[in-house]
Amino acid sequence: MDFDPDSAALASPPAAAPAAPSAPWLHALTQEHPRAYPQLGERFVAVLPPEPMREPHWVAHSPACADWLGLPVDWMDADSLQVLSGNALVPGMRTWASVYSGHQFGVWAGQLGDGRALHLGEWPGPGGPIELQLKGAGRTPFSRMGDGRAVLRSSIREFLCSEAMAALGIPSTRALCVTASSHPVQRETLETAAIVTRAAPSFLRFGHFEHFAHTDQHQALQALASHFIRHFAPECAEAPQPVLALLSRVSRQTATLMAQWQAVGFCHGVMNTDNMSMLGLTLDYGPFGFLDGFDPGHICNHSDQQGRYAYARQPQMAFWNLHALAQALLPLLAGEEEAERTAAAEQLRDALDVYRDTFASSMLEALRAKLGLASRQDEDQSLIDDWLRLLAAERVDYTIIHRRLCHFDSRQAPEAPVNAPLRDLFLDREGFDAWTLRYQARLAQEGSRDVERSTRMRRVNPAVVLRNHLAEGAIQQAQAGDFSEVQRLLKVLSRPFDEPEQAGDAGFPPDWAQHLQVSCSS
Ligand code: AMP
Ligand code: MG
Repeated sequence: MDFDPDSAALASPPAAAPAAPSAPWLHALTQEHPRAYPQLGERFVAVLPPEPMREPHWVAHSPACADWLGLPVDWMDADSLQVLSGNALVPGMRTWASVYSGHQFGVWAGQLGDGRALHLGEWPGPGGPIELQLKGAGRTPFSRMGDGRAVLRSSIREFLCSEAMAALGIPSTRALCVTASSHPVQRETLETAAIVTRAAPSFLRFGHFEHFAHTDQHQALQALASHFIRHFAPECAEAPQPVLALLSRVSRQTATLMAQWQAVGFCHGVMNTDNMSMLGLTLDYGPFGFLDGFDPGHICNHSDQQGRYAYARQPQMAFWNLHALAQALLPLLAGEEEAERTAAAEQLRDALDVYRDTFASSMLEALRAKLGLASRQDEDQSLIDDWLRLLAAERVDYTIIHRRLCHFDSRQAPEAPVNAPLRDLFLDREGFDAWTLRYQARLAQEGSRDVERSTRMRRVNPAVVLRNHLAEGAIQQAQAGDFSEVQRLLKVLSRPFDEPEQAGDAGFPPDWAQHLQVSCSS
């Protein structure tokens, strides 16, 4: 369906009954903050109510997210359940979906938009306003052929991973809770509907800018850029060319995000430009995965047949996406004249340059930290490269090997029994011994002490990541009506650097996990 701002703005008033006013925190969401996106005008949003989801129930909630938002302790009451399930709006609440476009798998896809996410309002968090969104709240003018729904399975995955990433210290949109109902949703099989309440200072994507550039709405593009700079990147306003400063800022943030993804072994799966956050947040959790065995070519999305978004390609794909963003910003720097455009394109390319250096240095720093190296030496890059080559050759489990490396006894020989848990992960013992001798020499060079280094390393090498089989276990129980495993797993993932009580949470994936397939269908 094409977006017609006139009809969208006139969308019918909420069908759902207003909630009783017993949940004061919900009322705060009706306050239109000065930076509220709909103020940009009708070309940017469609105002419409959610589609009710009958007889909803709570599935899970994140105490850490509620804390981050600064919600009152009693936020989870009957009214909240209704509102967060799209069944009721507080009087004065205006929910809306935004329009964006994007490149999907490298191809221009045209108009997309919030096809199943509705902005509920802005919560005045302790660190500034935070937008709350209902993902799966029904059709919008941007739903195209979709039903506007999300299924329980994918909602649990998004919920758990958003919170797991935050606990790992990786920038991400957050997830407050999941609500669900028996409302049927057709995917490959018949499933049931759920809604994730997600939260972020802004959900603006590269695709929002691409939309107005590709539809030649240059005034709107300018308004969008000014809005974003004013509210989210104020330091850029001081620069001689704010748009260039903005592109550099996004490039820098995206580069550090990519280094964090790579370092922890996270694969996003659908790095289309409409899933790239203008704030450098991990955004839109679909067929994501964490590496089990270290395989640089790993493709987590079953639908990505060419491997465009394979693990090792993610940094390059982010850079590709930044080029698409730069292209979208071009009309803000140049008119139609060829010479003007060439000069502006060059400036934008220069502004993107910061990406490579920031990614390379952030990645090197992240891997130094994973290996427990406290100082910087020229040969570190080759030590790291050879380590990763060793892991890749035998598909050594990426999370487990780094966790065991935290306990490496540098005063003993590589083949000493105390180092066996580490060494036993390799068939190529000679290769391991040779690398380890270099590592030992490197540690000795900086006077590294095992106990201190181990403490440091255990703060950057998680014991637990959200492997597919862990998510799958929680999902299967939830689909059978028992949500306790979702909540238990959330608790474990919220302390990823601690040894979990259940050793299995930090263990190797079971054999059946190899056959799990995750695709875009959600
Ligand atoms: P994604 O691949 O999940 O990032 O989604 C790409 C586009 O499809 C976005 O515009 C989404 O809002 C839209 N979309 C995905 N799933 C649905 C759905 N079930 N109903 C409506 N729109 C959807
Ligand atoms: Mg998306």
